Amino acid sequence: MAERIAVYPGSFDPPTYGHLDLVARALKIFDRLIVAVARNNEKSAFFTVEERVEMLRATTEGIAKVEVTSFGGLTADFAREVNAVALVRGLRVLSDFEFELTMAITNQKLNPQIDTVALMPSEPYLFLSSRIVREIARFGGDLSDMVPPEVAERLRAKFQAG
Ligand code: ADP
Repeated sequence: MAERIAVYPGSFDPPTYGHLDLVARALKIFDRLIVAVARNNEKSAFFTVEERVEMLRATTEGIAKVEVTSFGGLTADFAREVNAVALVRGLRVLSDFEFELTMAITNQKLNPQIDTVALMPSEPYLFLSSRIVREIARFGGDLSDMVPPEVAERLRAKFQAG
């Protein structure tokens, strides 16, 4: 049977334990996972795309079957290019649902070969988001339960640099 590839697209600004929880879950379902940093909205991002790719690579190093890259343009087109059968997205709280449903149906229209698989994280990560992590980092709070040490270090360095 052909290898079943999934794409996990997102901003990952920065990657958190919530994202990594989803990576682990997706690997139980798919043969290979491509974690793909979207090049959209780069101007309003906190970390550059390259920094986000580096952090994701550092934190998924040693997990076989995971690849990290970035992409521009439509997620549906990128998924087609890499022969993916699915997109992986996360559902935390009810408020994620409307956005994720809209994206899933839109991507289905753009690429009918692709289904979106929504995964729920473990309970400790239900309220974790990159935005919350950036807020806590701004005021020097403890991030050890939220992001891997490499990411916490990058956040510290970035805020110290002003
Ligand atoms: P985007 O800007 O594409 O929403 P994010 O990096 O914020 O990018 O999130 C990428 C995907 O990962 C989204 O589907 C989001 O719901 C999911 N996600 C983010 N944080 C978590 C978490 N703590 N638990 C589960 N899913 C999450």
